[in-house]
Amino acid sequence: MTPADFRLSARARSMKASEIRELLKLVGRPSMISFAGGIPDPGLFNVALFQDAWREAFSGPSIAREALQYSTTEGYPPLRQWLADHMTSLGVPAEADNILITSGSQQGLDLIGKLLLDKGSAVATHRPTYLGALQAFSAFEPTFSSIDAPQPVGDAAARLLYLVPDFANPTGLTMSRAARRAALEQAQILNAVIVEDAAYTALRYDGETVPPIAALDAATAGSIEGTRTLYCGTFSKTLSPGLRVGWISGPKALIRKLAMLKQGADLHTASFNQMVMHQVAMAGFDTQVERIRAVYRTRRDAMLAALDRHAPLGVRWKRPEGGMFIWLELPEHIDAANLLKQAIRRDIAFVPGGAFFPDGSGRNTLRLSFSLSDEAQIEVGIFKLCELIGQQGLARAVSV
Ligand code: PMP
Repeated sequence: MTPADFRLSARARSMKASEIRELLKLVGRPSMISFAGGIPDPGLFNVALFQDAWREAFSGPSIAREALQYSTTEGYPPLRQWLADHMTSLGVPAEADNILITSGSQQGLDLIGKLLLDKGSAVATHRPTYLGALQAFSAFEPTFSSIDAPQPVGDAAARLLYLVPDFANPTGLTMSRAARRAALEQAQILNAVIVEDAAYTALRYDGETVPPIAALDAATAGSIEGTRTLYCGTFSKTLSPGLRVGWISGPKALIRKLAMLKQGADLHTASFNQMVMHQVAMAGFDTQVERIRAVYRTRRDAMLAALDRHAPLGVRWKRPEGGMFIWLELPEHIDAANLLKQAIRRDIAFVPGGAFFPDGSGRNTLRLSFSLSDEAQIEVGIFKLCELIGQQGLARAVSV
């Protein structure tokens, strides 16, 4: 039997395996220097804190039974309270009932798609934007528009503005306070919901903190209940992605609806994982964030310095103030997907940028992640990549 033998939904039929994903399966080779995965360095996980939390969850029969039992869809109450306090410290005055625990922020995006999108509904995003959000929303068969283009009002108006305001995946760019205000005003005019994806927000290496859109919204509205922003947070980039614990913060009316949708998806996020994450967050969230920031800052600086030294003329990039990514724009004639095939033969990997555009543009762009490589690997990897990019120019000059 092949999928063609089954009567699949139109949505499933239109899904295609990504060629790039197949290619990137090769990056597990030990000799490979990979700038591809936007994932935390596992060497930085605080294993000891997780061991303590794990033991704590099994330290007595009553707590162990709670950890092993079904729990409420909204989430483990002490974790919801910790997150409400965390949101309040970010300028979004929240109570536990303003928080829904999700299985990673990726599930948050899926639930928000279910909450807001019908077939043909418009979603406005930056171009490029996070591929996983495009995938999550695509299941509801919306149309995508660029947030920078004039937006239609009325029935065709975007229902959802998806933004990654801090150190975006894939560009590394941060929205200024003015840009955040403008997005909020645009959402008000369109009567749209803003989805603020804050996956990288804790990872700032320099520059001034800009308040979340959710905070600007709450300040204008007078309280979180009057806001139109759903803030998607996650422990994946700070504590651990493997336990799959994220959250949505927003007005209670929307959180209640989202909880009903989550119930149909997975009943609740694993009780044990939530208890462990709560314990680890209480014991060492701030210290852990400080520690990983210092390491990633050094790696970002090493990659920027290596690009300064080795990048051929015509390659452009901007300095990210945080996160995990540097976005390269190559000369027009270079196709980054093609470049990846050659790079993999030289043991270097990255993600071609085209995948991050809903309309298939951006062929001459690529995303580099500095989170997984040490400074020596970054120097060698960027040198080899830049040499390869330089050769593309030469090959063209010869063929013209
Ligand atoms: N949003 C962005 C911008 C991301 O880069 C990621 C992870 N790559 C996610 C959401 C999802 O992360 P998680 O589900 O692990 O919280």
